Amino acid sequence: MLNASLSEISAALATKAISSAELTRLFLDRIRALNHALNAFITVDEERSLAEARAADARRAAGSAAALTGIPVAHKDIFCTRGMLTTCGSRMLANYVSPYDAHVVERFARAGAVLLGKCNMDEFAMGSSNETSHFGPARNPWDRRLVPGGSSGGSAAAVAARMTPAATGTDTGGSIRQPAALCGVSGLKPTYGLVSRYGMVAFASSLDQGGPLAKSAADLALLLEVMAGFDARDSTSVERAPEDYRRDLDRPLAGLRVGLPKEYFGDGLEPGVRRAVGEAVRELERQGAITLEVSLPNTGLAVPVYYVLAPAEASSNLSRFDGVRYGHRAAQYDDLLDMYCRTRAEGFGAEVKRRILIGTYVLSHGYYDAYYVQAQKLRRLIAQDFAAAFARCDVIAGPTSPSTAFALGAKSDDPVQMYLNDIFTIPAPLAGLPGLSIPCGFDDKGLPVGLQLMGDYFSEARLLNVAHRYQQATDWHARVPKDAPL
Ligand code: GLN
Repeated sequence: MLNASLSEISAALATKAISSAELTRLFLDRIRALNHALNAFITVDEERSLAEARAADARRAAGSAAALTGIPVAHKDIFCTRGMLTTCGSRMLANYVSPYDAHVVERFARAGAVLLGKCNMDEFAMGSSNETSHFGPARNPWDRRLVPGGSSGGSAAAVAARMTPAATGTDTGGSIRQPAALCGVSGLKPTYGLVSRYGMVAFASSLDQGGPLAKSAADLALLLEVMAGFDARDSTSVERAPEDYRRDLDRPLAGLRVGLPKEYFGDGLEPGVRRAVGEAVRELERQGAITLEVSLPNTGLAVPVYYVLAPAEASSNLSRFDGVRYGHRAAQYDDLLDMYCRTRAEGFGAEVKRRILIGTYVLSHGYYDAYYVQAQKLRRLIAQDFAAAFARCDVIAGPTSPSTAFALGAKSDDPVQMYLNDIFTIPAPLAGLPGLSIPCGFDDKGLPVGLQLMGDYFSEARLLNVAHRYQQATDWHARVPKDAPL
């Protein structure tokens, strides 16, 4: 069961081969055995999980089971959960218990899922390695000396190590896709607006988007059906009819036009990544897809544009953490201003402070036009690059990350090196487009490589179809990490 797909688990629950209480116990035991080494979870509440599992068993016995009834899931610790800590990986919120559930958390609860716990993450989702977490980094189950990627590194590590069948994450500049790639799991960042941001601690609101991480594309499709949907409490939530994201999973790839952006295959790509991604493209061709070269000429601007816009939005969003309304407050201070200063000095880590400083700078009088407005214009150009490419192809394929997982500490002294790891994942959220990452092989160190697929707005069903067909023909996604054997 630890290695089963969501539909296999669901079938086992339906035929009473296993109860949700037994299943939940199995995953809780696995978490207990591995979490001290992997640090994938910040909070686990066994009593609560087992109570939810018993309630799910009762619901199933009463004949009113929904899509995920009795199936355990874990949430990134950025999603507010009533009655359970929501730390966002920060000292600022280390003691914060939300009075309400995030929309996504509500949706999973309504679908009958059992909450296993809250996953580790970079502080306020700022990072690509999980090392900015106040609770220490999660570790990569393929090699515990390496980072799991970030910011949803705890979610990716937990799925990879089979500590949970599925987890939620959020992606602002790659935080679902990049850790999925580095941990050898599947992860989907939906079109902006598809999944409500209500109750998701805000980092950069025009980019943030929640999405699922799981072992396969078929599982992602089921999870997206639970997560997606209009929510009046998020002003950017899109009103659309609910979709069956599994409808096209088996559609043959014959005639599919796959664009290969030349900017994604240039220098700086590790040889092992280039090889595995190239092989994956050949598999798509074997199934009848037609590949063509496309160009996204402004790719090189994506990282600088992102590091103006995301910090600008973050500096505004994080102003609410003032020691009055949420979380941490300095124990000693002279007056109100001193209380704010000490609270924020103590509550935020170095990376978060760096972003607040950059964001405040680019928004300040005299620099606003030079940086912020300019970055908004370039953001538009990046979106136009994609529009031109999608006039010629149905999906874009390339590497998720230029490298496989790197050692803890390897990039932490050099923020720009860390930022560049997201070069291929930052463009899609700048354009609001969907993207996913699936395992497509290993480098010569035995570390997983991610294949990224991007599509036009609301093309999730198509992306999942391509990913599923690929996974039908390969078994990379089924491999179990060597530092977390079953
Ligand atoms: N690594 C990027 C950053 O540090 C993206 C993070 C994210 O997507 N939340 O901002």
